[in-house]
Amino acid sequence: MSAPRMPIESGVPEAFPYMHPVLKKNYGQWKYHDRPRPGVLHHVAKNGDEVWTVRAGTQRQMDTYTIRKLMDIADEFAEGHVRFTIRSNIEYMVSEESKVQPLIDKLQSEGFPIGGTGNSVSMISHTQGWLHCDIPGTDASGAVKALMDELYHEFTHEEMPNRVRMTTSCCQINCGGQGDIAINIQHTKPPKINHDLVANVCERPSVVARCPVAAIRPAMVNGKPSLEVDEKKCICCGACFPPCPPMQINDPEHSKFAIWVGGKNSNARSKPTFHKLVAAGIPNNPPRWPEVSAVVKKILDAYKKDAKEWERMNEWIDRIGWPRFFELTELPFTKYHIDNWRGSRVNLNASAHIRF
Ligand code: SF4
Ligand code: SF4
Repeated sequence: MSAPRMPIESGVPEAFPYMHPVLKKNYGQWKYHDRPRPGVLHHVAKNGDEVWTVRAGTQRQMDTYTIRKLMDIADEFAEGHVRFTIRSNIEYMVSEESKVQPLIDKLQSEGFPIGGTGNSVSMISHTQGWLHCDIPGTDASGAVKALMDELYHEFTHEEMPNRVRMTTSCCQINCGGQGDIAINIQHTKPPKINHDLVANVCERPSVVARCPVAAIRPAMVNGKPSLEVDEKKCICCGACFPPCPPMQINDPEHSKFAIWVGGKNSNARSKPTFHKLVAAGIPNNPPRWPEVSAVVKKILDAYKKDAKEWERMNEWIDRIGWPRFFELTELPFTKYHIDNWRGSRVNLNASAHIRF
């Protein structure tokens, strides 16, 4: 029996041993690439080598049977090498054009859509949700699956004015990041404190230090050391909940979804931008979150119809202006859209540079 594989605690494994031989051989030596059809990339190396990459959508949270099925397809229809993109799509590389169509046919017959390239709505990058993280207010992965089921056509076709990158986050810490459209949980009430547990579970100074608006103070409650929250100051961010679970902020009624638009991470072609809130108070309604899908589809429809070719979501809004955006998407403009919190000017990181 072979020895068990021991974990290596040094980050992700080196990519080269797992890379398709044509990619490895021509690393840094590519002449050009094109897209013969949505979901297929074609790279040509300076020495004439060619490789086709077929991209398929997955539901990301996969059982072992699905993963085995995807690997069997790699062995039988591709050349035994795959990679997962940052948006949980799977890519198969083949070095002969004749293998592309049978591979596509097999993937489609097993229910995996081909697409996510160019000006499509690619898979939504999302956070862990109920399966992995310990503080989520909703299931980002589930909301994504429900939404991508409805955006199937937009994934398999490149019909958007420019690429559309969407993200979701299941708490307000937002490890999901910025997006053309971002779907984030939004707590609307301050945390409820279970005073019996605070002294046993929480390191009170670190919880006090964690609050971005200094709304938490140490307090004695019923003769026990505990904490109190100044509810007028609290911005319901949820940052106190991870280090102190007795400060419960998740609530089936008051934890809502909010939708933000116009964010962009990259420096490519235009500078990065922050996304802005356009819809708030959307019910957190599993397992299909239909209210979230309805708002996202309205925004995508308006963008698809009204934006000029190659305009990214933020550029489209810059050109037409916010009043027109709200008109076209038929979203109500409310007082919650006005950001009058002056503290953000000094507290929030307002540049694209990483600081340590
Ligand atoms: S968004 Fe929040 S709850 Fe969701 S995985 Fe990230 S840190 Fe955890
Ligand atoms: S939810 Fe945020 S603002 Fe409110 S008390 Fe906790 S850390 Fe402070």
